Amino acid sequence: MDVIKHDVLIVGGGLAGLRAAIAAAVEGVSVGLVSKVYPMRSHTVSAEGGAAAVVRTDTGDSLQLHFEDTIKGSDFLADQNVAEYFVQEAANELIQMEHWGCPWSREPDGSVAVRAFGGMSVHRTMFASDKSGFHMLHAIFQTSLKYDKIVRYDENFVTSLLVDDGRCQGVVAMDQRSGEFRLFTAKATILATGGCGRLWAFTTNGFINTGDGHGLAYRAGAPLSDMEFPQYHPTGLPGTGILITEAARGEGGYLVNKNGDRFLSDYIPSRMELGPRDIISRAEITEMEAGRGVPGRYGDTVMLDLRHLGDELINRKLPFVRELAERYIGIDPVHNPIPVRPVVHYMMGGVRTDIDGQSPLPGLFACGEAAQEGLNGANRLGSNSLTECLVFGARTGRVAARLAAQTPEASAAAIEALGADEEARIAARFGEATGDERVGQIRSDLQLTMERLVGVYRTGDSLKQAAEELRTLKERFTRVRVDDHTRVFNMELQAALEVDFMLEIAETVVAPSILREESRGSQARRDFTDRDDEKFLVHSLAYRTENGPQIEWQPVILTTESLTALPPAERKY
Ligand SMILES: Cc1cc2nc3c(=O)[nH]c(=O)nc-3n(C[C@H](O)[C@H](O)[C@H](O)COP(=O)(O)OP(=O)(O)OC[C@H]3O[C@@H](n4cnc5c(N)ncnc54)[C@H](O)[C@@H]3O)c2cc1C
Repeated sequence: MDVIKHDVLIVGGGLAGLRAAIAAAVEGVSVGLVSKVYPMRSHTVSAEGGAAAVVRTDTGDSLQLHFEDTIKGSDFLADQNVAEYFVQEAANELIQMEHWGCPWSREPDGSVAVRAFGGMSVHRTMFASDKSGFHMLHAIFQTSLKYDKIVRYDENFVTSLLVDDGRCQGVVAMDQRSGEFRLFTAKATILATGGCGRLWAFTTNGFINTGDGHGLAYRAGAPLSDMEFPQYHPTGLPGTGILITEAARGEGGYLVNKNGDRFLSDYIPSRMELGPRDIISRAEITEMEAGRGVPGRYGDTVMLDLRHLGDELINRKLPFVRELAERYIGIDPVHNPIPVRPVVHYMMGGVRTDIDGQSPLPGLFACGEAAQEGLNGANRLGSNSLTECLVFGARTGRVAARLAAQTPEASAAAIEALGADEEARIAARFGEATGDERVGQIRSDLQLTMERLVGVYRTGDSLKQAAEELRTLKERFTRVRVDDHTRVFNMELQAALEVDFMLEIAETVVAPSILREESRGSQARRDFTDRDDEKFLVHSLAYRTENGPQIEWQPVILTTESLTALPPAERKY
């Protein structure tokens, strides 16, 4: 088996992975970047609305305000030292993006444009039209090409982490072009594998967002944290789940029910359409349950009305929204409202790390959506996530590089044995199996279970039912067979490996949701409707055991260094 050596190995070529790669390369170490898709196809590319930072103070903005919005948005579950560092670094990173070629939209006088976003007190979201992720990823990808220290291995699927002597020493990956397994050894390994929205049936996430990185870390013994908090975005297109960006509301769009009422006046009158996502998603479900939804081919929806914004503004600031609505649902938002409903969008939880991106497993780091470094708590604010990828991608890359420079090389023999074991495991598991179950069927049953039982509103009973169904799905998966035994781009095998991760990660969502007997942020329990700071001002940590996840709890960090900390209080808007 080929063994490829780097000082720092990064899994993931999205915004977080590329930012970490550049930061590590600047430190002078050798960097390997492994990605299951060509980097420009990472989910980051589909981000629309923009990235938040305090870049303009003429709007009344300040670091303290961005910090407070983030903490309040998180329903006080964010680590406050982490949010503090985030707001302090955010502007530097977005200005750096501009220097790398990101074409931020501007005002006629040349100043950088900022738009409103949910849960943000002032306009602070920088954007590049409504294709922000595309432009950011393009700029950073091109920049990464100038660093000789960064060597890319595109279309390599990582199947497991190499853990020897209590440390993560790299990864095992399958080269999709040849089907060959390879070992990548490293002194520091960074997971930047993005989210896991594909655990649910109705999601804005790309097909590749199967949470492999979560699964890799979990199997290697690192804890996944706050997985009970997936984010529902209030405006998904029925049928496909394609996102209509929050920028549509940021630019002044209305949400109305079947009577044409702007129903948010009953739920969050001070913010209306610019409230945080968890609150608006719940309001939409409540309207539909009360019979005020608009029936449609894919069930009930509410309506996003942009007509009053006019042709010119829609074409200039929301051209992609118009294109998506026309193409995927046959509606021109200049003339008709768009049907929308809550859709799984982002995972607040992830691999638990400290502010440096370091996980409890020595040698293993994580950043971007795959990480739970403490920024988002129980509800992320829209447009904080692209910035999160940059701020913590940079820090993690830097720290990992410095650690790598002081770490001796791993024992080659031990590592090669681990690699051979992994290839044999996959061959034994999927090479000859003759069972009666199909990968695609189990995946869609899993997604429907999560959709039905682990949605915007939950109860102890629905969650226990989900846990039961997951056990059955896992049992069925032992009988899965893979028909394609060819080597080149074997997507059936890859899907089997992904679903294997998904089944385990789904359990790490359900288990802490059952134990967290309160409603906070995106977890709304009908049987425990209040927030309970006495018991649950804590992050959940899910550790893998043979009998499923074991949950432990870790206190939230409530202190800061220079900004004023925000003591937990009732979340009022
Ligand atoms: C439709 C949409 C719109 C959004 N809009 C916004 C927005 O406007 N503002 C905002 O702040 N946030 C937005 N978000 C969220 C934000 O875009 C994401 O959280 C962020 O881009 C994630 O970046 P990442 O680098 O962590 O992961 P990704 O960009 O998802 O990249 C993950 C990488 O990991 C690699 N990978 C995964 N598994 C493996 C494996 N097994 N082996 C090898 N490689 C692997 C993939 O190949 C990929 O390169 C949006 C999200 C979606 C879905």
